[in-house]
Amino acid sequence: MQVYKFGGTSVGTPERMKDVCRLITEDGQQKIVVLSAMSGTTNSLVEIADYVRKGNPEGAGTTITHLRRKYREHIPCLYDTEEMRQQTRELIDGVFLDIHDLCGMKFTEYIEKDILSKGEIISTNMVTNYLKEQNVKTMLIPALDYMKVDKNGEPDMHYIREHLLDILRKNPDYDIYITQGFICRDAAGRVDNLQRGGSDYTATLIGASIRADEVQIWTDIDGMHNNDPRFVEGTTPVRQLNFEESAELAYFGAKILHPTCIQPARIAGVPVRLKNTMAPAAPGTIINNEMQEGTIKAVAAKDNITAIKIVSSRMLLASGFLCKVFSIFDKYKTSIDMITTSEVGVSVTIDKTSRLAAIVERLKKIGTVQVDHDMCIICVVGDLRSRNTGFETLATEALRDIPLRMISYGGSNHNISFLVSMSDKQRALQALQKTLF
Ligand code: ADP
Ligand code: ASP
Ligand code: MG
Repeated sequence: MQVYKFGGTSVGTPERMKDVCRLITEDGQQKIVVLSAMSGTTNSLVEIADYVRKGNPEGAGTTITHLRRKYREHIPCLYDTEEMRQQTRELIDGVFLDIHDLCGMKFTEYIEKDILSKGEIISTNMVTNYLKEQNVKTMLIPALDYMKVDKNGEPDMHYIREHLLDILRKNPDYDIYITQGFICRDAAGRVDNLQRGGSDYTATLIGASIRADEVQIWTDIDGMHNNDPRFVEGTTPVRQLNFEESAELAYFGAKILHPTCIQPARIAGVPVRLKNTMAPAAPGTIINNEMQEGTIKAVAAKDNITAIKIVSSRMLLASGFLCKVFSIFDKYKTSIDMITTSEVGVSVTIDKTSRLAAIVERLKKIGTVQVDHDMCIICVVGDLRSRNTGFETLATEALRDIPLRMISYGGSNHNISFLVSMSDKQRALQALQKTLF
């Protein structure tokens, strides 16, 4: 069975929803289809939750009214029969009533997550009703019935597999199974999510669970480009990526993929194909186990990075110094992305700064600490095995006019990373584009 995932733009209007339905039904094959919320909806829900957090119910109310009106306007465009229009109108009104009720409760992060889940709930119901109206045998599988994270926020693979397979086993006679991306339950059973952009992750978790033939991620661009098209002109699609290469690109900022969504597919050996909903005939990108030798594939950038340098001439050579440094980050559950060392110090980068003050406080006990905010990791990905000489020189040469705070190479066979100031990001990406491709 195949798993198809459609992002927010792909289901952004009633017309696009109809296109998606054509796409998923034309080959007559049974599929699980993961849908995001219509584009802009999750951002509006974040805004609504933010008004509640700030104690401004009028602000929340106005945004709810606005959003509800938009959804109601979609109904006559999507359905032919008055019966389905009425049924969907009632459903949408019910969801907005829920949102309204949540806004009236005392704000907590759980209320926020509940509010954020509503976009996917609406979009999947809209598409399911459309397919039903078109007489396609369609079942809506609520993600909250099988998608779950454990107490560390990691997907509970065992639970997901057991529950999803059980649902499919009990309901074998459908052509299309629709489900929500992004949303899940936490270890205590409350509504949670897989972080922004998490529908990709839903798709690969499902793909791995059912051992799908392939996971197809449908979006608004023809596959993974060799650089960030939002900042660089003239980027071109990369037709094939190795699992590791795509995982590095996703983790280091290629927005087309959720940062950790490749992991489940890689572990299960399920190929992932990136396709363009606006141009379905375009080949897109295939992500699999193959490795094209001797090529640089793409460049990505991860924003809002903080660099921390710890210098201790007294202690670095003593065994246990690095262990002490890492245990401090571990204690505050803050993961490190880049690391470089010298004889007198160590530099690391983090992207989560909620515990920064406590971390710095502790680090100061073992060395002199310097913190640099507003940095950016530029990551060059490809076949960068050390016997493949010359690529590092080429990348560094491209960045010769840009101040480099850190360089990291050799941690994997696929990546060389540079830490630059956010203000130099676009220049760095453009310079690499010119030199590498
Ligand atoms: P969806 O809503 O379908 O999940 P996203 O907006 O999350 O879509 O991802 C697609 C967008 O990712 C593209 O429109 C593009 O602007 C951006 N993007 C960033 N880096 C890349 C890249 N290297 N290749 C392709 N798209 C990229
Ligand atoms: N709707 C969610 C978001 O906007 C999840 C997703 O689109 O993948 O982040
Ligand atoms: Mg996305």
